Amino acid sequence: MGKKSQDFYKNPDKYLVKLEKKISKYNKSLDTKLLKSAYYFSFNRHLFQLRDSGDPYAYHPYEVAKILAELKFDIKSIVTALLHDTVEDGVATNCEIESSFGKEISNLVESVTKLSKLQLPDKEVREASNFSKFIIAISKDIRVLLIKLADRLHNMRTIGFVKDKKRKIKIAKETLEVYAPLAGRVGFQIMREELETLSFKQTNPVAYQSLNKRINYLNNKNKNFVSDTIKNIKKILSNDFKNIEVSGRQKKIYSTWKKMQNKSIALEKVSDIYAFRIITQTKNDCYKVLGKVHMTWSMVPERFKDFISTPKPNGYASIHTTIIGPEGIQMELQIRSMEMHKIADYGVASHWIYKNLGNNYSKKEIKESNKWFQDVIEIINVAGGPRELMEHSRIDMYSDNVFCFTPKGDVISLVKGSSALDFAYAIHSTLGDKTIGVKINGNLSPISEVVSNGDQIEVLISKGQKPQPNWLSFCITGKARSQIRKSLRDHEQDEFEKLGKEILKKILLDINKSATKKTLSMLISIFNYETYRSFYIALGRGEINSNLILETFMPKVTENGKKTKKAKNSLPIIGLTRGQAVNFADCCNPLPGENIVGILTEKKGISVHLINCSVLDRFINFPELWYELTWDTKSGEYLQTARISLTVQNKVGSFNKITNCISKLNSNIVDIKINKREEDFFYMDVDVQVTDSKHFNDLFVSLKLEDAIYKIKRV
Ligand code: MN
Repeated sequence: MGKKSQDFYKNPDKYLVKLEKKISKYNKSLDTKLLKSAYYFSFNRHLFQLRDSGDPYAYHPYEVAKILAELKFDIKSIVTALLHDTVEDGVATNCEIESSFGKEISNLVESVTKLSKLQLPDKEVREASNFSKFIIAISKDIRVLLIKLADRLHNMRTIGFVKDKKRKIKIAKETLEVYAPLAGRVGFQIMREELETLSFKQTNPVAYQSLNKRINYLNNKNKNFVSDTIKNIKKILSNDFKNIEVSGRQKKIYSTWKKMQNKSIALEKVSDIYAFRIITQTKNDCYKVLGKVHMTWSMVPERFKDFISTPKPNGYASIHTTIIGPEGIQMELQIRSMEMHKIADYGVASHWIYKNLGNNYSKKEIKESNKWFQDVIEIINVAGGPRELMEHSRIDMYSDNVFCFTPKGDVISLVKGSSALDFAYAIHSTLGDKTIGVKINGNLSPISEVVSNGDQIEVLISKGQKPQPNWLSFCITGKARSQIRKSLRDHEQDEFEKLGKEILKKILLDINKSATKKTLSMLISIFNYETYRSFYIALGRGEINSNLILETFMPKVTENGKKTKKAKNSLPIIGLTRGQAVNFADCCNPLPGENIVGILTEKKGISVHLINCSVLDRFINFPELWYELTWDTKSGEYLQTARISLTVQNKVGSFNKITNCISKLNSNIVDIKINKREEDFFYMDVDVQVTDSKHFNDLFVSLKLEDAIYKIKRV
């Protein structure tokens, strides 16, 4: 056990006072009673637990609270930090926390606990449902993420004590792949960098050590480089600008390593590892300073970026430029105002640290300050399930951005590789839905065109336009994809609903009933659906067997399925003895007009087959079983059911085309069964009623001509 934590064990009061002092420096109306009771609640509940380091467990939540106090967090966040592990470790319950500390704190503790319980292992196998629960938990209250980040930061600072090597690597990897990028997304760069450095040291110790060695070597060799450069920059600016801060900053080891991998950057000169910052009073001064710098030294054109006019989605604003400085040394400069500087380091957390929120914390203001966070919330609202949500949040989490313009000059930032349609969706989801074309820099272009930095894009729309499934093949932003999927899903549901209505009408017609309210509410309660719509959709999808519906009305008739029902009608067949049981063979489903033959079977009576049905081979040696039968063409119209198996393109409107075609030929759909659904095709069986083989052939050929149908077969 460390000396300090031993002391903490013995003198908890002393440490409470320290924490209290820290908080009251920025929070003048601190509720000391609340702080004290949370502090001792945590201390007492964790009393008999030890950490891997041998420290008393309560020292960890105390340190997490301290991290938040340094960031000037509100008291509820700090109390949550003190309590954050009590529920997970089972030493307290949510109820206890709620009754002692109130609903808001217990909600926060509950959400943080949830995050801790979710396993987020490797990127490849990360479970979609876990990841989406994770995103949903943090979207409710950004403090949940910030408290969790502080928790993770302390765990990473003390990871050296963890003895199990596998666990150590797992925690470090998770930090690198989930927590550090999330910190970056909410603009909390200071947090991101420390998490990355600490994890990188664990996941790739060899690379970490060698980079470190190299950096130290370059630093030692050029001891005065940083101070000399600062002096040089100040010299040219001091006349024109008062109150300017210039500093040199060593680039972080993990981002340097990543850049070296992506762009083959070498670490040859000390200038490769430093960036210099000029912090001005106003935004205006940023551009004036830039002018002065560029007039004094020449700049490297491809390295110039203006994030002031086009800030990053996490709020980051700054000018980046690389100049050829004194003695021909290339140097990176970042120019920003004090206001921008605060956001650059702390992002969302800057609301607490600089605005002194104290106890008045406004969710709305903070949500609106971060574009990524807003997008995530929007995606949660329209995503169809965990897998979708994960896909969207992940793509957007790990990519670079491009910046494009609306005709009015507004900047829209998109993930690299986005299409023009992604751009339309980024402006507004309804605009995306209605897009029929785009003009990129004045030229008519396909909506699938990948956009580049600086493109000006005009979106052309039409009221009648609807999202198409193939749009998913070129839209890559989460916002566009989730919206397209939602529209397609809604539309598909509408089609199934229509189809379900049709099917029910047909079923009821057969038994001389109509779809009255009473009938309907009986059906939805029998089949256990909440709404008419969901019942119809299920029927349309083939999830409800139409025989079962018949059965609810006339149990006896349908005892043996549909066949009995048909047999009840007087069959237009000549050659049968009166009263003889008869059925149509499943294997060939003969239609009026076709050549048929009867086979006497033991249980079912006479089965009617097509004359060329392959099943007949079996009876070749039993001529006594054969009945010569013909259709009675004079008996008037008789409807026979035939089954068609279809492979249909999974496209908006496909179902309509099929049902229209069938009804145009005066045929009824008796049943539809979807056997398989794939991304591009549906496999389904449709039972239709036809008068005779000619009717069937007409129908068959017209269906064949429908372009929505890929394959068609009579069953
Ligand atoms: Mn913890």
